[in-house]
Amino acid sequence: MAEGFYKKKSLGQNFLTSDRIPARIAEVCGADKGCGVIEIGPGMGILTKQLALRAAKVAAIEIDSELIPILEERFADAENVKIINEDVMKCDLRSLIKEEFAGLDCVVCANLPYYITTPILMMLLEGEYGFRSITVMVQKEVAERLSAKAGAAGYGAVTAAVSYYAAVKRQFTVGAENFSPKPKVDSAVITLTPYTEKPVKPENEGLFFRVLRGAFAMRRKTLVNSLSSAINELPKEEIKSVVTELFGATVRGEELDVRQFAALSDRINALICHRG
Ligand code: SAM
Repeated sequence: MAEGFYKKKSLGQNFLTSDRIPARIAEVCGADKGCGVIEIGPGMGILTKQLALRAAKVAAIEIDSELIPILEERFADAENVKIINEDVMKCDLRSLIKEEFAGLDCVVCANLPYYITTPILMMLLEGEYGFRSITVMVQKEVAERLSAKAGAAGYGAVTAAVSYYAAVKRQFTVGAENFSPKPKVDSAVITLTPYTEKPVKPENEGLFFRVLRGAFAMRRKTLVNSLSSAINELPKEEIKSVVTELFGATVRGEELDVRQFAALSDRINALICHRG
């Protein structure tokens, strides 16, 4: 570790301690000489090093300015590594991809800061940047939630939203002892492969997401009750008759997959348009 650097809990700074896990992550992320990698949160650069060995170029975005001189020194001779001192949530990824990765495929690979995992993943997916894949280490429980099937424990609004944009694959588990400081929980590596052609195409995407969020907003309520609060353009009776016809009156949001949410949102959309 670099002398005088104190890790910041508030920035999710749990660093990997040996090259073995970063090498495995870099391997499964599929980085090769035909692609550029965006790394989020390089920390001390342990994963960056493995990515740079495999990829044509690595753009590593680190929010903590105290880490920048450490990273710059470490990669001073690595021509294919660019260190960027920014908050990834504020970074103009489209320009970055255009400027740094012209003619290359682009993948994302990161040991994500856990305090901001979901916002980062949703930003990467919603931006539709054309990533070949997104391979990230997250808390094991989050990996389980993201790969849960409808009706299973942990399945929720984020699972459904992620599955709208990408296929999710669990890669491997990483024990807490591989980090410094050691976190309270184990981690897991997952790969999201964004669809080039989405298998589910709701007619009104905005409404689809309102239906999806509304369905999970009140967890112990039936879908009819949750949706009635979220979709105020229709009377509860109309929502009830659509839900009952499609899935039965007592169904809960957590039982539906993304395809069923799209079917539901299309029916609600038709009714709203008809009223309009
Ligand atoms: N890649 C290193 C490793 O595997 O050892 C560090 C991973 S550590 C879990 C997360 C890193 O993300 C930290 O270096 C932290 O400073 C950085 N980070 C936290 N929030 C960030 C943000 N919004 N944008 C960019 N980097 C961020």
